[in-house]
Amino acid sequence: MAEAGSFAEKVKQQADIVRVIGEYVPLKKAGQNFRGLCPFHAEKTPSFNVHPTKQIYHCFGCGQGGDVFKFVMEMEKCAFPEAIRIVAEKCGIAVPRPKERSPEEHRENQLRAVLVEIHRGAQTFFVKQLEGTLEGKVARAYLEDRGLDKDTVERFGIGYAPSGGDLLLRHFRGKYPEKTLLESGLISRDQSGRHFDRFRRRITFPIANESAKIVAFGARALGDDQPKYLNSPETPIYSKSNVLYHLDRAKDALRRSDFAILVEGYMDAIAVARAGISNVVASCGTALAESQIKLLGRFTKRVIVNYDPDTAGQAATERSLVALLEQDFEVRVLALPPIFGKKARTLI
Ligand code: ZN
Repeated sequence: MAEAGSFAEKVKQQADIVRVIGEYVPLKKAGQNFRGLCPFHAEKTPSFNVHPTKQIYHCFGCGQGGDVFKFVMEMEKCAFPEAIRIVAEKCGIAVPRPKERSPEEHRENQLRAVLVEIHRGAQTFFVKQLEGTLEGKVARAYLEDRGLDKDTVERFGIGYAPSGGDLLLRHFRGKYPEKTLLESGLISRDQSGRHFDRFRRRITFPIANESAKIVAFGARALGDDQPKYLNSPETPIYSKSNVLYHLDRAKDALRRSDFAILVEGYMDAIAVARAGISNVVASCGTALAESQIKLLGRFTKRVIVNYDPDTAGQAATERSLVALLEQDFEVRVLALPPIFGKKARTLI
C-alpha cells in the first residue's frame, strides 16, 4: 500500500513497529521477535508475534497479520490515510501540511481546536473544584454516599461545577475571547447580556468523542435544581447524535467481544463499566440517532439493548430496535426486573 517515495513509505521506514504495537499490546522479547496476547482474538497463551526486522505482525492463533498501518487501521477502525497520520504522530515524524484550505475552513478548524482546548481546561478546572474546595467536599461526600468511590471518580474524570455562577468564566477570562467561550457552550449569556457558567452546583461528567477528546459535559444537579441532568448544547465540536458515551474506552472490548451493550445515560454506562463489563456505550438521550448506529457499526454489528425499564425507556428501546434492525444489526434486549434495573444499577 505504501508506494515508493511516498510519505507513507517514509513513515513505514522510520516507524518502529514494536513501539507502535507495544502501545496497544504489552510485548515481551522472544528470541528475535516480540510476543504478546493477540488483540484480535481471546487467548491465554501469547501467539501474537511482532517481527522488528520484517516490520510485520502475525498471529498464529487467528491468522491476522500485516504491517504497521494495517495494525493501526484494525485497532482504530480507521482508513489508510488516518493510519499513516497516527503512526507518524506516534513516531514523531512531521506530517506534511495538507493542501491550502479555504480561509473559512481554516478558521473553522482553528475554532474547533480552541474549543477542544477550552474543554480540556474546563475538565482540569472541574476536577480541581471537586478535589480541593469546600463545596467540592460536599460533592465528594454526595458521590461517596452513592457508591462512587475515589477510583471511579478518577477513572471517569468526574468533577464539580461550583455554585458561584461565574468561576469558570473568570478562570477563562483573558485567555479566550468571550465570543469563543460562548461558542464552547460552557458559558451562557442572559437577556441582559450578562455572561455566566452554564453548569453551576453540579457534578460534571466529561463526554469524549471517539478519539478520546473531551467535546462536551453532562452535569447532574447536586441539590434539587432543575433540570436534574443538564448537558452541553450542540457546538462546532459536539453533536449529540454523533457521539456515543464511553466508545473511546470501549473500543478494545468491543473488538474482542464483538458485541456492545447499549444503555441510556452516562451513569448507566459507568455502572456497567465499573462492574468490569467494558464493551458498554450510552446513547446519552433516549433516542438513538442513525449516525450513532453507523458509528457503532464500525466496531460491531451485535447489540444488547438495556434501557431503563420505565415507560420512556421502553419506548426508546422499541425505537432503537427498529433503527438498529434497519441497519442490519443483530439485536437482543435485556430487560432487568426493577430491583436489578434502575435502582440497583444506577445509584445517582
Ligand atoms: Zn489472534
